[in-house]
Amino acid sequence: MVARPQSLEKLLNLLRTLPSVGPKMSERIAFHLLKFNREKMEEFIEIIREVYQLVKPCDLCGYWDDQSPCRICRDSSRDPSQLCVVETPQDLIAMSRIKNYNGLYYVLGGVLSPLEGIGPQDLRTRTLMEHLETGTVREVLLALNPDIEGETTSQYLMKQIQALVQKLKNEGKWENSFEIQVTRLAQGVPAGGELEYMDELTLMKAFDGRRSILSN
Ligand SMILES: [Zn+2]
Repeated sequence: MVARPQSLEKLLNLLRTLPSVGPKMSERIAFHLLKFNREKMEEFIEIIREVYQLVKPCDLCGYWDDQSPCRICRDSSRDPSQLCVVETPQDLIAMSRIKNYNGLYYVLGGVLSPLEGIGPQDLRTRTLMEHLETGTVREVLLALNPDIEGETTSQYLMKQIQALVQKLKNEGKWENSFEIQVTRLAQGVPAGGELEYMDELTLMKAFDGRRSILSN
């Protein structure tokens, strides 16, 4: 292989840490960047710096925005009684393409994975339960990927919600007007598929076919 400057090697190594970027793609990107003129390169660096400084996860839903609560959480036209739980911000974007869903979202920030050592403490489950405890949510739609981790996480969340309802009932805090129905995406989502890459129609069918898995 032809020897390359150390600085270029560093850039190639860095690019290879990005998702879906292998050795060939890292070279394509690096050589494309090298063709930038000074002005364009400075603009590129400045935009990355600005995004890094300004865009943070929303304190309520975990979606990325330059304000917290984010634009979605502050949108008063949305129905706060519906809460769609997703794994990543990209999944939130995918779900937001469904025009017949107008509720709020909650980004878990991952899924349970014993193999990778990801437990409940690594996900945003505690704040989710605190949010449910306020009594504003009537339906929790679990929109996690239809794989083993997604399935395990959905089961875990369902049990947590059941336990929360029981706790509130025991403490006499469960009012008659309260109701938490847990639903999940159903038909339309293929096993092993990823929400992020699904087309609108597939997601729409999955949304319409959601089924209740827990009702209090
Ligand atoms: Zn938010």
